[in-house]
Amino acid sequence: MLDVRALRKVYEGHGRHVEAVRDLTFSLDAGELVCVVGPSGCGKTTLLKCVAGLLAPTSGEVLLRGQRVTGPPPGTAVVFQEYGRSLFPWMRVRDNVELPLRQKKHLTRPRRRELVEHALHAVGLDDTAGAYPWQLSGGMQQRVAIARAVAHEPEVLLMDEPFAAVDAQTRADLEDLVRRLWQELGVTVLFITHDIDEAVYLGERVVILSSSPTVVQEQLTVGLPARRDQLHTRADPRFTALRTRVHEQIQAAKRGGPAAAVPLRAEDDDGVPPRPLDKRP
Ligand code: ADP
Ligand code: MG
Repeated sequence: MLDVRALRKVYEGHGRHVEAVRDLTFSLDAGELVCVVGPSGCGKTTLLKCVAGLLAPTSGEVLLRGQRVTGPPPGTAVVFQEYGRSLFPWMRVRDNVELPLRQKKHLTRPRRRELVEHALHAVGLDDTAGAYPWQLSGGMQQRVAIARAVAHEPEVLLMDEPFAAVDAQTRADLEDLVRRLWQELGVTVLFITHDIDEAVYLGERVVILSSSPTVVQEQLTVGLPARRDQLHTRADPRFTALRTRVHEQIQAAKRGGPAAAVPLRAEDDDGVPPRPLDKRP
């Protein structure tokens, strides 16, 4: 469904030269939920903007269903971190969700209203359609932003640290919302986060980025059961082993090399964390 090939992005201008990402290659099958995790400043937003067709790569390419992405592709929706800035305060929730649908000229007004209602229902905001964004909590505003993406009936949903600014309890609820929507809608999800636990909890696979110069450090299959819940999944020894593995990879990336630990199979359920890494000079 989605192929990122040898993606490199350098920001130039004002005498500056910032290599935001050096060389990223990975792909997503249709219907997969993949998390990309990496430290702050490693180029995650840059990657997402290239995938969303909002930014042109310096070299390499992004393919969606085999077609090279050169602008925002139809069938793709994006949810950004700054929900506060993504909603219009003077428009009611239902109008905020409906607004981008108006660009789709083939949709009749009743059909648009139907899509909006369905999307608000999917994110648990049926009763909030008539409210203004500023009357809602941060978590609810982010639900509105997700509803707006869902109303598009996207094939691919791109999310850039969407829950970084909400409190822990709300964040847990929103994580479960993403997994539920993914299962119900059959959408392909690329979820970007700097939070290792979130990446392992949400993803079927985790793509680990190094710090700058940014490359794919490792790709990890998360073999956790499809039905996840905050209490039991996070207490599962397999979860603990996976997050340890991701931590190690990110530490190894900081030291500038691949981790030399034995490969961790997600099926390992003995609860024993992987062996510590060799200390590098
Ligand atoms: P992340 O989302 O992982 O925190 P970003 O993609 O936002 O990382 O940024 C990666 C690097 O690129 C950072 O060093 C950042 O300062 C730089 N950068 C991001 N956007 C621009 C831009 N428009 N112009 C110049 N440098 C940028
Ligand atoms: Mg970012």
